[in-house]
Amino acid sequence: MSSNKSKYSFYESVELYFEKAASSTKIDRSLLDQIKGCNSIYAMNFPVKIGKKIEVIEAYRVQHSHHKLPCKGGIRFSSKVNQDEVMALASLMTYKCALVDVPFGGAKGGVKISPSKYNVNQLERITRRYTSELIKKNFIGPGLDVPAPDYGTGAREMSWILDTYQVFQSDSNMVDAYGCVTGKPVGQGGIRGRTEATGLGVFYGTREACSIPEDMKALGLTTGIEGKRVVIQGFGNVGYWSAKFFMEAGAIIVGVAEWDGAVHNPKGIDVDALKKHQKKTGSIKSFPKAKNISNRKSALELDCDILVPAALEQQIHGGNAPNIKAKIIAEGANGPTTPEADAILIKKGVMVLPDMYLNAGGVTVSYFEWLKNLSHVRFGRMDKRFQESNNNELIKMVEKITDRTLSLKERKKLKLSGPNEADLVYSGLEETMVNAYHDIRTVWKKNKKTEDLRAAAFNVAISKVAQSYETLGIFP
Ligand code: GLU
Repeated sequence: MSSNKSKYSFYESVELYFEKAASSTKIDRSLLDQIKGCNSIYAMNFPVKIGKKIEVIEAYRVQHSHHKLPCKGGIRFSSKVNQDEVMALASLMTYKCALVDVPFGGAKGGVKISPSKYNVNQLERITRRYTSELIKKNFIGPGLDVPAPDYGTGAREMSWILDTYQVFQSDSNMVDAYGCVTGKPVGQGGIRGRTEATGLGVFYGTREACSIPEDMKALGLTTGIEGKRVVIQGFGNVGYWSAKFFMEAGAIIVGVAEWDGAVHNPKGIDVDALKKHQKKTGSIKSFPKAKNISNRKSALELDCDILVPAALEQQIHGGNAPNIKAKIIAEGANGPTTPEADAILIKKGVMVLPDMYLNAGGVTVSYFEWLKNLSHVRFGRMDKRFQESNNNELIKMVEKITDRTLSLKERKKLKLSGPNEADLVYSGLEETMVNAYHDIRTVWKKNKKTEDLRAAAFNVAISKVAQSYETLGIFP
């Protein structure tokens, strides 16, 4: 009988996927061990005054790999944080960055708190104290380790981290201080497009997978996103933005699930209206234009084409995998599928777009933000107007030759104005997600030992990390 509980911890499951893929490479065992293990683990306990009491907070920062610096990865605020989880998430960051050619090592941070139990002042104190612990041990800095948002954190926390970091710097280090953290508010060195980046990456990656006729035919699906029925689990940043991009591309969002309830409408749910309802009432439940599902967990088993788990890890397990009806699982969250479930899904012929590829949009745009911070110039600033006048000259010439004036609609379609920061971020992310998909798919199709896209993604990632060790000359 399959059970909900995996026999593997989250970190063990990442190790298991690693080993499965490693066996289809020719990489030396000692190098594989070096790539697999976590390089530095910092576990801390620090006191923070909460009300009249002192609370001792448990927290972590794990740097999985120093093969490229800085290390990169989000900071999670959750009552479920533990060392195993942070190690797993840090490992996934290394492979994720390698897959999408983001030149960073993987890292992750976790603070074991439930953010809803604290007011804003208390959260600020916890975040600032955590940051000073990182500073003390040299675990943060633009060239060392660069945190970002993750589950339970956002732009607000990143701005507290930046400010704390700046306070501790001597003048000579100040010039690049903005690069010490990404996911900041745009007014404080952030980049346009970072908020929606992970969801947008989920969309671009899934759209690419759905554009290949041969693969869709094997699943009994037509190509394209339009008309596909989508279920979203988790309606936070990743879930909401993924759903929004799917909806805008003509998909039908038939179900949305959250930690406290789920809603269903086979005719489609307007995700913006649902977000408004969630903000107003504090829950997605009782949304007037959908039906509540009594058992929120069964939302994963709804009839649909694409299931997007965008909440926490180990949500698709041996207990529910046999009942999943989706043909495609688009992993927006980190580690949503247990190894037991993965084996069942492979057998069933479900296409699983693995987390380490599909949710890499966040770190990709973080990389763009970091580049912006170090170059001290907004993307598009130098060439926007140049391109715009070039385009206009070209149109003038075409109009003269053809003796026809373009309509306003035609002009708009041609995007004559030069690209702004958001345009460049979107196009850089699209290019990244499309290329990475084909890198993975090529290995999946060519290498008989790689039976699924996850194994192929690990294979590509491990090979890329191995290559950089070769360049360093540490391993043969
Ligand atoms: N927390 C995100 C992730 O898991 C983003 C990390 C980053 O931008 O560094 O990929």
